[in-house]
Amino acid sequence: MATTEQVLQMMERYSASNYLPLPIVIERAEGVWVEDASGRRYLDMLSAYSALNHGHRHPKIIQALKEQADKVTIVSRAFHSEALGRFVQKLAKFTGKDRILTMNTGAEAVETALKMARRWAYRVKGVEEDKAEIIVCDGNFHGRTLTMTSLTGETAYKQDFGPFTPGFKRIPYGNLEALHAAITQDTAAFLVEPLQGEAGIIIPPEGYLSGASELCREQGVLFMADEIQTGFGRTGQTFACDWEKVVPDVYILGKALGGGVLPISAVAANEELMNVFEPGSHGSTFGGNPLACAVALAALEVLEEERLAEKSLTLGRYFMKKLTSIKHPDIASVRGRGLLIGIQLTVPARPYCEALARIGLLCKETHETTIRLAPPLVITEAELDFAISRIEEVFAGQ
Ligand code: PLP
Repeated sequence: MATTEQVLQMMERYSASNYLPLPIVIERAEGVWVEDASGRRYLDMLSAYSALNHGHRHPKIIQALKEQADKVTIVSRAFHSEALGRFVQKLAKFTGKDRILTMNTGAEAVETALKMARRWAYRVKGVEEDKAEIIVCDGNFHGRTLTMTSLTGETAYKQDFGPFTPGFKRIPYGNLEALHAAITQDTAAFLVEPLQGEAGIIIPPEGYLSGASELCREQGVLFMADEIQTGFGRTGQTFACDWEKVVPDVYILGKALGGGVLPISAVAANEELMNVFEPGSHGSTFGGNPLACAVALAALEVLEEERLAEKSLTLGRYFMKKLTSIKHPDIASVRGRGLLIGIQLTVPARPYCEALARIGLLCKETHETTIRLAPPLVITEAELDFAISRIEEVFAGQ
């Protein structure tokens, strides 16, 4: 076994430096807790950017993984598998959509939705070839592939990666007039996060999602919700769109769909949209592999059995109340929904995250000045009290 020091050296010497992790080497994890090599325990308040809604190594999900691993793991899409069949049926019923297309990562699922929207625009809506436009929002985060990089407004994410994929129009987030003004006869879709996670836990103004969805319907534009970070109970509803009773034309899903165990992502949509893909027009070697499907099926069952969305709502309210009672000049505001919460600081958040890690609480800054708190939804009130005591301690010391 390599020591912590050795691991840090190996990373320094051999790994690409595309991340800036805290210097903690996690060796094991269970539920909401992780442990380093020296046996130090930390409360995980990041949840792998919301991939761990079910907590680490949920027993039922691990059981499904093991059982499937003993049968068949990968078949590619050249053949069928029982696990994929059962999974698409389950996710279609769960989302209320006709059909499911499975991929692996979030960015791939967004790519899939974009391809679907463009084909739909040409084949169904009648947009002239190569003219289809997709509207996206300022502050969006949809992943790191070249197309996702093309539609971001963050210069740091874009610098020296051009030329970029054309066909996107960016408008201010939360602004219905801007959406209305941006729509033309060539608009295929509006791609939106129902709550912007990476941008710093930005909740849109009330009525925005329902207004945007209505506008899209009136104008013959697809409303595509990127629920990769916000879905599966994270914001206190099954999907963040549920906050405004909005049913998007397309759900884009990932992260917690894999139960905190394996990568799996998916796009859920009705026949008219999904039928634009004929055999050979889209796919992925590992997309829909039986191992990931068995895991995801168990993850959906756990979500329902343990009522994780309701838990997230109740515990989120409890946590928010405690957080907002912490008064400190560096805290500008606290905002969030369910268990996706941001503490907006007036100063850089990184030193606070480092100080919290030193006393047993793991979290990560987003956009320099926001501390993102997103614990596994299986967390208890007592564990949230532990988090509060650590956060109070850190602010008291600054
Ligand atoms: N969309 C949203 C809203 C996300 O938060 C993320 C990841 O943080 C992605 C897409 C990209 O997912 P992945 O990192 O699995 O490609």
